[in-house]
Amino acid sequence: MTTVALKDVTKMFQDGTVAVDTLNLDVNDGEFMVLLGPSGCGKSTVLRMVAGLEYPTSGAIMLDGELANGLQPRERKVAMVFQDFALYPHMTAGDNIAFPLRLAGVEPTPCGERVTDVASALGIGELLDRKPNQLSGGQRQRVAMGRAIVRRPGLFLMDEPLSNLDSGLRAELRAEISGLTRELGVTTIYVTHDQAEALTMADRVAIMRRGVLQDVGTPTQVYGRPATLYVAAFLGSPRMNLLEASVYVHLDRYVTLNLGEQSLYLPWDDLRSRAVAHYHGERIVVGMRAEALTPVAPDTPGDVLQGRIRYLEHHGHESLAFLDIGATSIVVDEMSGPVETGVSGQRGLRRFGQVMQRLAGRAGEA
Ligand code: ATP
Repeated sequence: MTTVALKDVTKMFQDGTVAVDTLNLDVNDGEFMVLLGPSGCGKSTVLRMVAGLEYPTSGAIMLDGELANGLQPRERKVAMVFQDFALYPHMTAGDNIAFPLRLAGVEPTPCGERVTDVASALGIGELLDRKPNQLSGGQRQRVAMGRAIVRRPGLFLMDEPLSNLDSGLRAELRAEISGLTRELGVTTIYVTHDQAEALTMADRVAIMRRGVLQDVGTPTQVYGRPATLYVAAFLGSPRMNLLEASVYVHLDRYVTLNLGEQSLYLPWDDLRSRAVAHYHGERIVVGMRAEALTPVAPDTPGDVLQGRIRYLEHHGHESLAFLDIGATSIVVDEMSGPVETGVSGQRGLRRFGQVMQRLAGRAGEA
């Protein structure tokens, strides 16, 4: 069993760069935690501190409830896979995988069995006699993973392990890695800047920006109810529509959301009106996912926003319509309503579905 707890962890490098700022994060036993964020946000530094390759400037790193700040890498039961995994070129795949076991003095027979087990779990059982230069990129990465897993670490740390592979292979290995770590029950911290990777693989995602943790939760939570405007704008493709609105609660029990030139009237029995009612008189930012909006005909009665289609974008599995609503532009998933491709002009837009909240701050602050 391995749990990780980071308590008020800060890392300041000698040149004054604060790579990680007062980070608090718990990783549960057997959990697959993804650290997600743009380049330079501090993800790798977090991983390196957990591995013992960097030491925190302040704060505590706890492994299984014990303070691990001063422990050497080899004293922590961790295995690490990097983006630029280096295999020993003169050794076969099997010998590469067996290497950490030999180093630890494991006898040949159990060592051989462990190597075969790991290799077959990774689908490279047939390739153990090949040298790295006789393997494809994906196969080499599987060998690197095998080498990390073979010692049965309590904690698996992976830093962008798939970023050098082509997109098809990445998707394939994504499923394999998360399947394998779950099968083995190994606690995993996985660093990536690729949100598709994060959302598909993670039990929970921790999103960082400039060294600061922005949000942590299951993929559904961080996607559907982002904690900050930054996360709302960062996660999802297309990005979440963010509209400024003023809230007015009317005494005869309905709520108006004033979106500049247009207003939405939410009846009191609509759950969304309750969600915003206590912001009466305030300006809020309303977040709407493209797929939560339903395109309808312009003359549809009821609560609709009017938009003018600027352009349509076809992605094969979906078509996105980019609309101007007054001075704001938003994106709508065309497939969520009647499919009318090649149409441009006025369109009604049925009011949004499930996603609506006050985000922490106003549009433009993030
Ligand atoms: P990437 O995805 O590009 O690897 P990252 O999110 O993993 O980025 P880190 O590598 O953790 O980011 O770097 C965080 C910040 O710390 C960056 O501004 C980086 O330039 C800085 N940094 C990293 N290592 C050092 C170092 N040894 N000395 C000074 N600054 C450093």
